[in-house]
Amino acid sequence: MNAVPNANSWHERARTLEFRTQAFIDGRHVDAASGATFDTINPGTGKLLARVAAGDEEDINRAVAAARAAFRKGVWSQTAPAKRKKILLRFAEAVLAHTEELALLETLDMGKPISDSLKVDIPGAARCLQWYAEAIDKVYDEVAPTGPKALALITREPMGVVGAIVPWNYPLLMAAWKIAPILATGNSLVLKPSEKSPLTALRVAELAVEAGVPAGVLNVVPGFGHTAGKALALHMDVDCIAFTGSTATGRSIMQYAGQSNMKRVSLECGGKSPNIILADYPDLDRAAAAAAAAIFANQGEMCSAGSRLLLQEGIKDAVLEKVQAIGRGLEPGDPLDPATQLGAIVDETQMKRVLGYIDAGRRDGARIRIGGRRVREDSGGYFVEPTVFEGVKPAMSIAREEIFGPVLSAITFKTVDEAIEVANDVIYGLASAVWTRDVTTAHRVARALRAGTVYVNCYDADDLTVPFGGFKQSGIGRDKSLHALEKYTELKTTWLDLS
Ligand code: NAD
Repeated sequence: MNAVPNANSWHERARTLEFRTQAFIDGRHVDAASGATFDTINPGTGKLLARVAAGDEEDINRAVAAARAAFRKGVWSQTAPAKRKKILLRFAEAVLAHTEELALLETLDMGKPISDSLKVDIPGAARCLQWYAEAIDKVYDEVAPTGPKALALITREPMGVVGAIVPWNYPLLMAAWKIAPILATGNSLVLKPSEKSPLTALRVAELAVEAGVPAGVLNVVPGFGHTAGKALALHMDVDCIAFTGSTATGRSIMQYAGQSNMKRVSLECGGKSPNIILADYPDLDRAAAAAAAAIFANQGEMCSAGSRLLLQEGIKDAVLEKVQAIGRGLEPGDPLDPATQLGAIVDETQMKRVLGYIDAGRRDGARIRIGGRRVREDSGGYFVEPTVFEGVKPAMSIAREEIFGPVLSAITFKTVDEAIEVANDVIYGLASAVWTRDVTTAHRVARALRAGTVYVNCYDADDLTVPFGGFKQSGIGRDKSLHALEKYTELKTTWLDLS
């Protein structure tokens, strides 16, 4: 790769890039037992990228059996945390060493700008592996204050075999949020990546084994949700499902757990996050820039997207003029061009869904300030302009439902109480934000918002040290931070009678 790669050099490299297209079970790449494959499409061109093994129940059974065997043998589950740390750090280094290859895979498979894959997704995944590696030999168990006649130990044990089902918007990063704490705590894992973006997961599984993760500990079965995903969530020998995806699928996962072995379930689901700007906030340039990034970054395909912009009357036009100026400068472009900031929507279905919501917004009487159309159609890819609606009423579908595209719904309000009511009046509760110069108002609103994260005078600030997840139908449990370790461990009390 040249010192400063340009679009041509990325295209050149894409032509010779190798894809891992088989499932990864027990340390080896293997075809699906049925021999079936599915097509993964490059959303930047609409063309076939690769044919990938379409895993189903039989492949899930093989992967779970390998994961269980590795767990029973203790090759990972019984190793000292310091050893797991060493291997996971090597794994993180391997991911970093392959940043360009993985970034290219991610962009080709999912359509996000190559500069995002290089700067956000791949280093973010490596950092997550490092963080949990570094953490795991520093967490202690507990001794209960029972008094002198007993010694009661409260210890955390790995769950056993964990199934992780992940989405396509940050394919490797969302997988890493699962892989890192699941492996750090000594579990074995069967990962089911999204059928829209399976390629990076298949590649990093191999890197994990090269770094020293024993065969069978990390397995990846690509395939569809209703076949491979469902089989994993229904499996009688899977102890826990860690899911990230839509709220609708999250509901099904809970049912599968109930129908099978009551496996533990954690869910990171959808959002319709409110970004509230109060008229007293002095720096509207800053607030508008953050509001634009909150909805246009990653083509708006972000669970935490600030998709509802709640503006206090009096500042509506000032803020929207700034947001629309930023949006106009974000014409979607070739995902492999390092200058591109807005890439392709992941596939045709998702693009149609986004355009369908834009039509619904128009029909319901909201006004488009910018955008609203598919663009770059002759590329064959799936590109949608940054779109800003004003005059949105809280009852409209564009104010209530997750669009998962670059579509902002601006709603005006008069009082702080009204803003809180509108903000909370959706089924979701993932992220939220309030912009104000008044510290009392900031705390009052932060307490009142029913969301897993409240940003004050910022949006999407991010760090592995803080938990991430949702209230209400945005999910159950938290990713990131030491709290994620709780999801993948069982608490055991060992009571020794000393009398
Ligand atoms: P999705 O629910 O369609 O798919 C997610 C995963 O579930 C995929 O791997 C899919 O194959 C699988 N799946 C689908 N149906 C299944 C079934 N019946 N049984 C088992 N598995 C099944 O979601 P998506 O479109 O891939 O991702 C977008 C969604 O993910 C959005 O709603 C977004 O908000 C959410 N998301 C949430 C977070 C978070 O941390 N809260 C992060 C990223 C994405």
